[in-house]
Amino acid sequence: MANAIRVRFCPSPTGNPHVGLVRTALFNWAFARHNQGTMVFRIEDTDAARDSEESYEQLLDSLRWLGLDWDEGPETGGPHAPYRQSQRMDIYKDVADKLLAGGYAYRCYCTATELDERREAARAAGRPSGYDGTCRDLTDEQKAAYEAEGREAIVRFRMPDEPITFTDVVRGELTFTPDNVPDYGIVRANGAPLYTLVNPVDDALMEITHVLRGEDLLSSTPRQIALYKALIELGVAKDVPVFGHLPYVMGEGNKKLSKRDPQASLNIYRERGFLPEGLLNYLSLLGWSFSADQDVFTIPEMVAKFDIADVNANPARFDLKKAESINGDHIRMLDVKAFTEACEPWLRAPHAPWAPEDFDRAAWEAIAPHAQTRLTVLSEITANVDFLFLKEPVQDEASWQKAMKEGSDALLRTARAKLEAADWTSPESLKNAVLAAGEEHGLKLGKAQAPVRVAVTGRTVGLPLFESLEILGKERTLARIDAALAKLAS
Ligand code: GLU
Ligand code: ZN
Repeated sequence: MANAIRVRFCPSPTGNPHVGLVRTALFNWAFARHNQGTMVFRIEDTDAARDSEESYEQLLDSLRWLGLDWDEGPETGGPHAPYRQSQRMDIYKDVADKLLAGGYAYRCYCTATELDERREAARAAGRPSGYDGTCRDLTDEQKAAYEAEGREAIVRFRMPDEPITFTDVVRGELTFTPDNVPDYGIVRANGAPLYTLVNPVDDALMEITHVLRGEDLLSSTPRQIALYKALIELGVAKDVPVFGHLPYVMGEGNKKLSKRDPQASLNIYRERGFLPEGLLNYLSLLGWSFSADQDVFTIPEMVAKFDIADVNANPARFDLKKAESINGDHIRMLDVKAFTEACEPWLRAPHAPWAPEDFDRAAWEAIAPHAQTRLTVLSEITANVDFLFLKEPVQDEASWQKAMKEGSDALLRTARAKLEAADWTSPESLKNAVLAAGEEHGLKLGKAQAPVRVAVTGRTVGLPLFESLEILGKERTLARIDAALAKLAS
């Protein structure tokens, strides 16, 4: 398959994974899967000061949790292994040497102070302030003199003097003039290769056909295209890949969502109980749409439709409410068994406040279908079912004040008597009991059930009350009403 699509996801292992990163991974993955292409996962860990093993482990774990699998990469291996840049240093050194020998790059002896001074002067004179080409064409004598001075040299790539034009699959044709893309460093004075070199070199060696990444990297694209052309002339690369830059994601107040934004952290969504498919569904809408009238879909449905050419160049807005609502729809799409299993982590410590031996699986399975229709994130399950497993309902003062009014004690006494006489195999019968108690006190059902709910569950809001009472059982329900009456009398 000569034209098979090969994409890459190539994060740097710094900090926690964030939603922007996940969106990039998702679009690459969906594009690969839609086209029966290859997803390459590469770790860009050439910055020892910032990269961490912990972050690397988190990246792998996150992709696995999300179900975004890779065909080549860490732990999987593949024809272009290794897939961690820290293990590929010899390759970069070899390419840098070739670029120098071929005249595509040169040693630059300028010191940081000199560069700063000239940049300032250029700015003041209204000239372009990028690297001014001082070391582009040094004679051997000049080089020898600099070296005799003990100056260190970085390796700098020589940009062509003509504009660079390319067609971005998302943004259309773009042109960068030489003034805007000066010669740039590719190897530090200490020999460490930079992102500017290692990223396109690996894309070339790994035969990447499509580079799909965030808009923040757009300015490196003309540099990479120029480098690619040099690599092709040197026989290192075959073709320049297609580039596509995914739109910015905006957060609160129309500011770019930053990695440091708490809202941006993937772990938060995981801890709050987003389903991977719910989160991916939402993230896929950041720059893409499934159809004009449908926002909720499965990941296989997304893959079947996804084309990078349909991605919109306009900034996308991150909308937490919408993410939650879509997640709720995915919770409802689960079958009951999958739902009860997905909730498990929130029914145990540290989330669950009840003692493990007080957890009652039969009661959980009975209440689960009522909970499934109401949650937006799985973590909400704990508070919704705690009345079943705690010895006493939670003490929520605000709920108590709201529900317990003048006359609530009389109402509760009547309700208790009618509930005692009711048929406890039928929520309908329990409802009729509370309804009838309300009628005796001139209260509609809504008003009559509020004190009952707070007495039994501790909260003013929760799952359908009469099903809840039935599952809790007659004895415990009546005991809780008694306890509430005692509290009201004290
Ligand atoms: N390691 C780079 C980053 O995380 C990759 C950029 C790219 O996709 O080219 O920003
Ligand atoms: Zn220089």
